Amino acid sequence: MQYISTRGRSRPIDFQEALLSGLAPDGGLYVPQHWPQFSPKEIQEVKGVSYTETAFRIIKPFVGTSIAHERLAVMINEAYGQIGHRAKCPLVQIGDNLFLCELFHGPTLAFKDFALQLVSRMLTDVLKQRNQKCVIVGATSGDTGSAAIEAFRGLEQVEVFILYPDGKVSDIQRRQMTTPQEANVHAIAVQGTFDDCQNLVKQMFGDTTFRAEMNLAAINSINWARIVSQIVYYFYSAVTVGAPENSISFVVPTGNFGDIYAGYAAKQMGLPVTDLVIATNQNDILYQALNSGHYHITDVRPSISPSMDIQVSSNFERVLFEAGGKDSHSIQAKMQDLQKGGFKINEVELNYLRKYFSAGRSSERETRQVMADTLRETGQVICPHTAVGVKVAQELKQNSPETVITLATAHPAKFPDAVKDACGIIPQLPDRLSKRLKGAEKIHTSPNSLSELQEFMRSTLNC
Ligand SMILES: *Cc1c(COP(=O)(O)O)cnc(C)c1O
Repeated sequence: MQYISTRGRSRPIDFQEALLSGLAPDGGLYVPQHWPQFSPKEIQEVKGVSYTETAFRIIKPFVGTSIAHERLAVMINEAYGQIGHRAKCPLVQIGDNLFLCELFHGPTLAFKDFALQLVSRMLTDVLKQRNQKCVIVGATSGDTGSAAIEAFRGLEQVEVFILYPDGKVSDIQRRQMTTPQEANVHAIAVQGTFDDCQNLVKQMFGDTTFRAEMNLAAINSINWARIVSQIVYYFYSAVTVGAPENSISFVVPTGNFGDIYAGYAAKQMGLPVTDLVIATNQNDILYQALNSGHYHITDVRPSISPSMDIQVSSNFERVLFEAGGKDSHSIQAKMQDLQKGGFKINEVELNYLRKYFSAGRSSERETRQVMADTLRETGQVICPHTAVGVKVAQELKQNSPETVITLATAHPAKFPDAVKDACGIIPQLPDRLSKRLKGAEKIHTSPNSLSELQEFMRSTLNC
């Protein structure tokens, strides 16, 4: 399987290279040259099969010959052995034909564990094969950073630098990043927003000298291997509620468009998905874009669902590329316009996008209301990100009898202040986590400056 860049100026590469590089040298994102196909019969055969076996079947065609299949199977078993629930992503019913898919039973209590636990194993395997080390750099709005640090702590082949917006992640998210004491992990509090952090990471990758010097690898959701890992739970959960005979809709609390893009991938691969619903908080750029055709950046407004406080949804480029018939010139032009504040989506692209996606949004007040209502009516405590999804799902259900799965992206205990405010209770952290988070914090603070960060990374590696 080969991967091509959305910007069309880099050569096609295999899975190993896509895994190692993240961003293409031309600034684009890698997408598969074609989508592996699963027939209704093959989808049916997933029924009753374990999560790990499902994962193996779905992931295998994407990996090709980059990782031997026996080793891939071992990695999948180890990675999902870290998830503290037998079903891995249990479905919980919260209404007529309305389900939550709980993706927060991993070690850092957010869905990011599903990708990063596997990606860390694939990456170290490939680095060992090549006798290489690498530097991982990532920007986080809270959950990617903790999942990455957890997945890579103490590993010899990798040095990890995670940039997070200072003061804009929850205490628990921060502690998950700053309490690991292993020398190879570094949490950096950047004086700026998540978009600033993401921009710094993109600039590091754009600096070809620095990139080569460090052997940089990206583990943000732009990394293709992360998307691949996330496709699995769409298949697994859809089959559990009746696919392929029934077509299912998914509502996905969205920030960087990685998780919902994995749903799009599942649909391209043959999973019958009626609607992929983008659920946004008050940072509703994707909702606006789908409605108006204008993707226009405004300031980020911090919300109680911080992992979705994003204006530049990186993975949106992947679906725009397909919407425009894989026209990399059009993507180049759009991304240049984005530097100046926004771009226009043309009629053809917009029709394509609307065929696959719809969008809804939830205000802060509505999100709190849904958290309180859900607890009262179902006994379930949900996190504010999940609540954004549930709000949008309930709207959708008003005019459709169809089965809807909302992805429950984080454990409520990760956001105790928001839960207490909305529901009047303090959600309990699982024991295994609360003990660990009590330790001392290791934080490096940095201004929003590329040169200072590069200096820090160089000096860290040289000592
Ligand atoms: C990362 C995250 C999201 C957004 O996911 P994307 O793939 O960036 O769209 C939503 N909810 C939670 C809890 C997250 O950690």
